[in-house]
Amino acid sequence: MQLERPAPSAPPVLADLYGGQRVVVTGARGFLGRAVCAQLDRAGATVLPLGRAELDLLDRSAVKARLRALRPEVVVHCAVDGGGLGWMRDHPVESGLNNVLINVHVLEGAHEAGARAFLGAGSACAYPRICPVPFVEDDLWQGYPEPTNGPYAQSKRVLLDLCRAYHAQHGFFAMTPLLANLYGPGDHLDPGRAHVVAALLQRVIRLPAGAPLEVWGTGTPTRELLYIDDAAEGLLSCLALSEPAVLNLGTGMEHSIAALAQAVLDAADHSGALVFDPTKPDGQPRKCLSTARAEALLGWRARTPLAEGLRAAVTWYRAAEPPR
Ligand code: GDP
Repeated sequence: MQLERPAPSAPPVLADLYGGQRVVVTGARGFLGRAVCAQLDRAGATVLPLGRAELDLLDRSAVKARLRALRPEVVVHCAVDGGGLGWMRDHPVESGLNNVLINVHVLEGAHEAGARAFLGAGSACAYPRICPVPFVEDDLWQGYPEPTNGPYAQSKRVLLDLCRAYHAQHGFFAMTPLLANLYGPGDHLDPGRAHVVAALLQRVIRLPAGAPLEVWGTGTPTRELLYIDDAAEGLLSCLALSEPAVLNLGTGMEHSIAALAQAVLDAADHSGALVFDPTKPDGQPRKCLSTARAEALLGWRARTPLAEGLRAAVTWYRAAEPPR
């Protein structure tokens, strides 16, 4: 039983896992994909980036043909058609349909192309809406996810179960670790798709001194925030496992939206008050992952404290998007 092995004393070294390897990254121009490509580059991999402009992941035969032509040893699937709570609520069809198709095509294509491993970006939203906190992997299937992002969450569950199927039937190393909510430099610039941190940061850097910051909902839901470079490192580290596992990648730190919004104000050195808008959705009441299995199996834990990550994100947003 894997969990009874002694915990590795140090996280995997990415250069040992990826040095000299041909690695396809989907979503390579996106938030997570860019961070993954940068770490693979540093690890000495031959990175084969695929962005939206290069390949339509909704086109099954095109995906198969391109992956066969690229001959990857590893495929890291970061592409999603997604967004924050508001976008998910307004696009239940695209967020379900497109992601099911994208996920299935890339997993199937990776296997058919002869890759030795597939790593897909899973999400904490795959957990049931009401679940004991911190979420442990064994509770994943105990209920329906938050309905506001139900179809998207189900697309992540389909991918996870198909990974399990590919491993069971073909011995293919396929897994899709469950990532906490991501934030950091390189996040969305499109406010229509922004998750909470990106949305608040974009608002706060444009506020006149002392003006209030509008926050959706009641401020009482909780979220766990994983810094983008930690997420990329955790995802890539999974290749060190002796066999694929259902695995959370998070910080284990649960923050109320009110506390998070205050941390955003602090990171931006903004002294205005928080104003909550309860007409906007709260979404899932609580979200926070257990980190125990990742620590036990991988020796991996997130490194970046929230305040430090938020400051890096503020700096990036100020440079990327000067106040209008
Ligand atoms: P979720 O974890 O899938 O629900 O994704 P989000 O990051 O979009 O939302 C997280 C939480 O942040 C919810 O409780 C929202 O009500 C809250 N929130 C507060 N202000 C905002 C905002 O401006 N945009 C978004 N997307 N969420 C916000």
